[in-house]
Amino acid sequence: MNGNVRARDQGRIFMRIRRKENEMQKMPVYDSDFDGQRLIFHPTAVAHWLRKGVTAGPLYAEVDLINRCNCNCVFCGVDFRVNKGTKTVMETPLAARLVRGLAKLGCRAVMFSGDGEPLMNPDAGKIIKDASGVLGVSLTTNGTLLNDRNAGMLDGLRWLRFSINGYDRASYAAVHRCSPEMFDRAIGGVRAAVERKRKKRLPVTIGVQMTLLDMNAGGALELARVVRRIGADYFSVKPYSRHPKCLNRVRVSYNRYLGLGDELGRLDTDAFKTIFRAESFLKAGSRKPYTRCYGAGFMCFVASDGNVYQCNVFAGDRRFLIGNIRDTDIADIWKSERRRKVVAGIERMRMDGCRDICRMDACNRYLWRLKHPLAHDDFV
Ligand code: SF4
Ligand code: SF4
Repeated sequence: MNGNVRARDQGRIFMRIRRKENEMQKMPVYDSDFDGQRLIFHPTAVAHWLRKGVTAGPLYAEVDLINRCNCNCVFCGVDFRVNKGTKTVMETPLAARLVRGLAKLGCRAVMFSGDGEPLMNPDAGKIIKDASGVLGVSLTTNGTLLNDRNAGMLDGLRWLRFSINGYDRASYAAVHRCSPEMFDRAIGGVRAAVERKRKKRLPVTIGVQMTLLDMNAGGALELARVVRRIGADYFSVKPYSRHPKCLNRVRVSYNRYLGLGDELGRLDTDAFKTIFRAESFLKAGSRKPYTRCYGAGFMCFVASDGNVYQCNVFAGDRRFLIGNIRDTDIADIWKSERRRKVVAGIERMRMDGCRDICRMDACNRYLWRLKHPLAHDDFV
């Protein structure tokens, strides 16, 4: 090979690498595969679980700030708990102690949401800001209580997701069962968040999610256009998933909506992405390829009354209660015999009473495969 040919080849390789780098720079900073799993990025935690049969600590926690909501959605997954019984509110010192304790256990991220609208907790802004300095923090909200006066609470967030399930005043009022003006407030919340992000050049990813129902499917594109115009990072559509204890009896046949993903995809730009949760739609109602839940041990759920569970699906069920942070430190709860028994019980129960589309599904498929490898898995 003469020198000219070598230089030409090197030039081509260099150009190819540069192109790849440019493409990578254009890629969003977040992983838009909402149906995927991220346990593969925590090999040490998974190796510990494989070696010892238990997890060292939760990698991720969901924390409920209040059991009240200003909406009453027809599809609400927690309609059997929200706005029921005694009002319980997570206070700032309790939340701060919890977040510090979770961080010491090796927890990487916390999502504030839960059995209601988290921003109905008057301390929500302070709790979220304080936590953002300790762990990766995210917030899911219906957005109706967010405005440019309190948007400062978003400054430390990694991501923020609005749940908006109507595309205009009338459809919003019908789905959220509230006054039509609440739609303006929800959209105003998205606008306030995007403006804050722009003004402060915040790294927070802002998205709007719609649970697809027969009542709102016809307006999904319309809402996606509104959200893109405002400047959010993404619009996602997910299927309805019924909690086994739900009072509502929503039924949706998703076959006729599978083409919506392509229609939404045409709205994509470099700065805006539509995410049609195709995998979740296809999984809805189908049989799972595993018979035990190994994933619950990698997370925990803390209700606003301080009760701690491995999985939010069993919140309120005393058989799955592992402790209360009002009287016991989260580290002691995590290391307790009680927790060990509950986790073993969850693994044994073969997912009886679990949710059809559960957030740990992809993790469970991965963990199950690690424990039960297929014939060719050694051929990496
Ligand atoms: S906004 Fe969320 S918590 Fe409130 S009623 Fe609707 S689905 Fe339930
Ligand atoms: S499979 Fe069941 S126990 Fe496990 S995370 Fe899902 S709902 Fe919870």
